Amino acid sequence: MALIVQKYGGTSVADIERIRSVAERVIRAKREGHDVVVVLSARAGDTDRLIQLGREMSPNPDPRELDMLVSTGEQITIALFCMAVKDRGYDAISMTGYQAGILTDDHYGNARISSINTEAIMNHLKRGRIVAVAGFQGVDPEGNITTLGRGGSDTTAVAIAAAIKADRCEIYTDVDGVYTTDPSIYKKARKLKKISYEEMLEMASLGAKVLHFRSVEFGMKYGVPIYVASSFKDVPGTLVTKEDEDMERVVVSGVTYTKNVARVTINDVPDVPGMAAAIFRPLADAGINVDMIIQGSSGIPGRASISFTVPEDKYNETIEIVQSISNKIGAGKVHGDNQISKVSIVGLGMRSHCGVAEKMFSALAAQNINIQMISTSEIKISCVIDSKYTELAVRVLHDAFELDKDPNGVFQVKEEILPKEVVR
Ligand code: ASP
Ligand code: MG
Repeated sequence: MALIVQKYGGTSVADIERIRSVAERVIRAKREGHDVVVVLSARAGDTDRLIQLGREMSPNPDPRELDMLVSTGEQITIALFCMAVKDRGYDAISMTGYQAGILTDDHYGNARISSINTEAIMNHLKRGRIVAVAGFQGVDPEGNITTLGRGGSDTTAVAIAAAIKADRCEIYTDVDGVYTTDPSIYKKARKLKKISYEEMLEMASLGAKVLHFRSVEFGMKYGVPIYVASSFKDVPGTLVTKEDEDMERVVVSGVTYTKNVARVTINDVPDVPGMAAAIFRPLADAGINVDMIIQGSSGIPGRASISFTVPEDKYNETIEIVQSISNKIGAGKVHGDNQISKVSIVGLGMRSHCGVAEKMFSALAAQNINIQMISTSEIKISCVIDSKYTELAVRVLHDAFELDKDPNGVFQVKEEILPKEVVR
């Protein structure tokens, strides 16, 4: 018998039929003797529709009222879910974020969970109830409803799992696990049985959309095993957990890409202290997230050129800001490219293996793909390339590191950590 949090995404609760089958799945876990907290997303498309509705009412919807509006999507699904459970003779109770004790900061639309008062949830569990919590929402210290950012229900689930000290958090979604790369662009993508929090964090921040970035942060911080699986098929999914020896043996675990990046270059920057700060401070003030930065000589003595990447939707704004800085500090031309993408390899084993970067660069060179920028971390190497080569780059890197083969052979995930229905 375990204490489990199960989260179901929007496609898994898209209509009455699917909500019924989620209710049946949850009851199955309950009948096996587990205590279950269920976190639900809004029905697929509802959150988009609500945002759209707000924009129809006002060109610039008030952020507090927009969160009030958007948070209703999850209230629909938890209520319907509890009705279905009760019709089957089991006790269930739906709870908004507020009722479930989820406290956040006051950043409407992108709030962070600061604490969870688990008293109410625990009381209902003690009385044998299935507890259904609305994902994606909480309240700020003043009692205003906040939302956690798109995809935030994952974070609700993992945060609750951490707070109630659940044995695991199961995320049921429309993909059946974490793959070595996006299966829609490479058929050879292989589902991973296990992946470390660290790798999953890199993958989530690099554009793999399986888990909300902050949910992985929570899992890592509080040591909550996160099991990602399909709500439609009973096939084993992927366990996100602490690193172990099997994982370390693997040099590269996955290849990810993001097309939503743009490069900006500023030429002939005076090579004196304070210039980088002068350029990047206004960007930070404008809330623009700068990712890779490269500074090189620009041919003219005493001058440097600085290139960096920003999210693609901030490209025009960035060019404008940097142009005005350039005029101010007496630098040269500002130019850029928004037809680029970032391709990355991620793996714990990089820490202890040499030649990984060289292998990546050679594989790209063999296809005549030019690398425009490079950045590395302990467990990641990213290259910026022309976006028209994105898919090709992903495939050649997947081949170069032989990601279609399981480097650990047929090792088994320890059974006690897996939900019963999946072990079989
Ligand atoms: N319904 C919210 C969204 O679509 C939260 C979630 O599904 O995780 O972003
Ligand atoms: Mg999601």
